[in-house]
Order: sequence, then C-alpha cells, then structure tokens
Amino acid sequence: MNFLGMLQKNNVKIVKVTLDGSKEVHDKRRIHRKDKRTYDKILDGIKEAQANGIKVIIFVNVDAQNINYIPQLVNELKENEIKATILLKRVNERSGTKYPYILTPKEYFERVFKIIREYRLKEVKVYEFDVFYASLFNALSSGTSIPAKLRYCGGVTPNVLIFDPRGDIYTCDYLLGNKRASVGTYYPEFKLNTNYYIWKNRTAGKIKECFNCRLSLLCSGGCPMEAYRAHGTLYKPYCEETKYLPDYIKLWLSLRREDND
Ligand code: SF4
Repeated sequence: MNFLGMLQKNNVKIVKVTLDGSKEVHDKRRIHRKDKRTYDKILDGIKEAQANGIKVIIFVNVDAQNINYIPQLVNELKENEIKATILLKRVNERSGTKYPYILTPKEYFERVFKIIREYRLKEVKVYEFDVFYASLFNALSSGTSIPAKLRYCGGVTPNVLIFDPRGDIYTCDYLLGNKRASVGTYYPEFKLNTNYYIWKNRTAGKIKECFNCRLSLLCSGGCPMEAYRAHGTLYKPYCEETKYLPDYIKLWLSLRREDND
C-alpha cells in the first residue's frame, strides 16, 4: 500500500509537511540522503493529498537564512495551484542546539510582519499567534466575544502528558530526555512527582507580574518552558512573544479589512 492509501485507510484528514523556503533555498536545507533534492517530491505529495481531499498545512522553519524567501515560496505555491495554510515558525533556542542563524523574537516578528504587510501575504499565518491564540482570531473573524485563555499551552493543561520510550512522563516536548524535568514515570510503575503539580497549576493568576497586565487573559503568563529557562521557575512571566501580539492583531485586521472593502 502506498502512503496515500495508508492515510485514506486511517481516515487522516490533515497532514503537516515542512518546506523551508522556495525551491532553491529548501533544496539546500532539506537534503534527502539518496535523492538530495526534496522540494519537487514534497510538492507532488501535497498535490496528490489535495486532489484526494486531504488538507495540507505547510510549516516553514524561519531563520536569518530563509526569511527573505517567504514571498517567493508563496508565489511558487500559487503557480502550482496549491492552496495550503502556510504556517511560519521561528527557529528558536528551545532545542538547546547552537545554531548561528537564529533570529531573536524582536528581529523575527518585525521582519515577518514587514514582509506580510509589504507582499499582502494573507495566506501566511504566524505559528506563535495563530496557533496559541486561535480562539482569539476565531472570535475576531466571527464577531463573537473573546474567550479568556487561562492556560498557555498543553504543557500546563491537566490532561496533556507525553510518554517517552524509556518509561518517563513529560509535559513539554522540548524537555524530553531531561530527566530532572520529567513529571513522573509510567514504567515500571505509574507515579507522578512534584513537577507535575508545579506545571499543572501554572496560570497567569499565580504570576505576580501578570496581575495588572492588560494581556493576562489572552496570554496566561507566556511559555512556561521559556520562563523556566530564563528564571529557574515556572512562576515568572515570559512576555517576549506576547508583546508583539497587539501589532500582529493590527496587521491581521488590516489584511482582513481589505477583503471586505
Ligand atoms: S504579557 Fe507578560 S506580564 Fe502580561 S500576561 Fe503575558 S506573561 Fe504576564
């Protein structure tokens, strides 16, 4: 059975694939061990998925090397009649690897917003906002009230746990393998430790700096993992991404307003 057959058999409706820029840029970064170039093959796969009713989300890992090629990628996808959601994600320091092309959140958001505005890239979404604040953007599109966001991500949501192959349980995938950060074990015995309660109790209501912040019911204290990395405790805020949210909302609204004019 081919790959498409497997997806259909298992009733898969959405697939996520990565394209790290236009053809020229992607083929330099994402190299297949045998075939070397991968861009055309991925595009063929996307077309086949779409022709069979499977929705495709294209992730772009963005850093200093490929940020200027985003408009070119969008054009190439249009030329190929591909109508996928394009989700930009900043290559970040969370994996702990040293990589020289990482953009700071400030550099990244300023440049990405400028590119989206200049090239009117309405099909492009920004992972840090469109994923974590999806209900906010749904509310803005539908004119309904904005639901309060009490917990930042799955890591601090009581029922999200990640089981690794060694028998340990984690709550954030960036911490996998870091045993000190595990929240318990499931083999040989199921047992949760104090980290579990520290993670699962984190809301903006527990962070002093967030008490008087106008964004607290949208942001819920920001990324707990980044807060831990920066301050050694989860009960501190991480605002680096959130502080660009108002600018993104303005950009987002101005692009949507054009659709209605
Ligand atoms: S922006 Fe900062 S201070 Fe405001 S709620 Fe978010 S983490 Fe807390």
